[in-house]
Amino acid sequence: MPSTNTNDYRIATIGSHTALQILKGAQEEGLKSLCVVTPNARKIYEYYGVANEFIEVDDYRNFLQIEDELIRRNAIVIPHGSFVSYLGHEQMKKLNVMHYGTKGILEWESDRNKERIWLEKSGLKLPAIFKNPEAINRPVIIKFHGAGGGFGYFIAKSPEEFYERIKKYPKEENYVIQEYIVGVPIYVHYFYSRLKNELEIMSFDKRYESNADSIGRIAARDQLAADIQTSYTIAGNIPMVVRESLLPSLYELGENVVRTSKELVGDGLFGPFCLEGIMDTNLNFFVFEISARIVAGTNPYINGSPYTWLRYNEPMSTGRRLAREIKEAIQSGAMDKILG
Ligand code: AMP
Repeated sequence: MPSTNTNDYRIATIGSHTALQILKGAQEEGLKSLCVVTPNARKIYEYYGVANEFIEVDDYRNFLQIEDELIRRNAIVIPHGSFVSYLGHEQMKKLNVMHYGTKGILEWESDRNKERIWLEKSGLKLPAIFKNPEAINRPVIIKFHGAGGGFGYFIAKSPEEFYERIKKYPKEENYVIQEYIVGVPIYVHYFYSRLKNELEIMSFDKRYESNADSIGRIAARDQLAADIQTSYTIAGNIPMVVRESLLPSLYELGENVVRTSKELVGDGLFGPFCLEGIMDTNLNFFVFEISARIVAGTNPYINGSPYTWLRYNEPMSTGRRLAREIKEAIQSGAMDKILG
């Protein structure tokens, strides 16, 4: 029978992505915390005073070297975007240390085909996929698999343009050709509590992407003269709220995704997740990606968002919400509901 004393556990994560928020959230909920850092990253995590302990690794990819130490300290690891990308979902599956969330769902998130099946089964609108370049008959966005933060994506509107532009990437064979949706990007941050069996909308953001978000600062004629090509490298996140009348349908999308996940993988998806999409001029929301864990777009809300303020009347970040769920699970002997 696991201990129901919160002092016997520590929340742990690696120093990147949303670690500040996760550690701060643990602190606010009175849980001990541990940050795995590289010598380089240590300074900033010490500076913010959000972790009780540090363990150093020379490279986050060597995380497994310190796994036994984390197990000895009864650490509960919170996976975030960088964590998943440093380890890869295959290694994540093999982790023995306590891990928040369903590991099986990460496979559905990281494989574009599986992800699409999941989202389609959930009844979401998705951008069309073009199986081969010859089929391109409207603007498309070409995305390379595993591209870090949108780097190298390009736009084309015909097969000829595609073949011309792909020349720059002779080594890339693994890409998807997706319909380009003209509209505004919206990222919806959810939290599904398995203890309460309830979905929450935590916040929204849009990304600040280089150079897509600055091209409009110069005239079209200058863009052509400078031969500028659009790219989507993420530099940061910008907080936003949506039209209030959109809330019911966005809430329903989240519920559908959770319901379908239970059909796909044992315990299904729980905890924080994000639907990433583009809203067109008719307010159709086309989802192009799901992240089955905390996203960096929640970082503007370390002190809570307008939506968490409505529900909690106290500052409630996604990191803190996670810590609260873990605390309640520990205290009520329901650890099996949050670990995966
Ligand atoms: P991703 O790496 O898939 O998250 O996409 C990076 C960025 O590319 C997004 O934040 C959007 O700005 C843009 N994007 C991705 N897919 C589409 C799409 N189908 N239509 C329009 N813009 C897109």
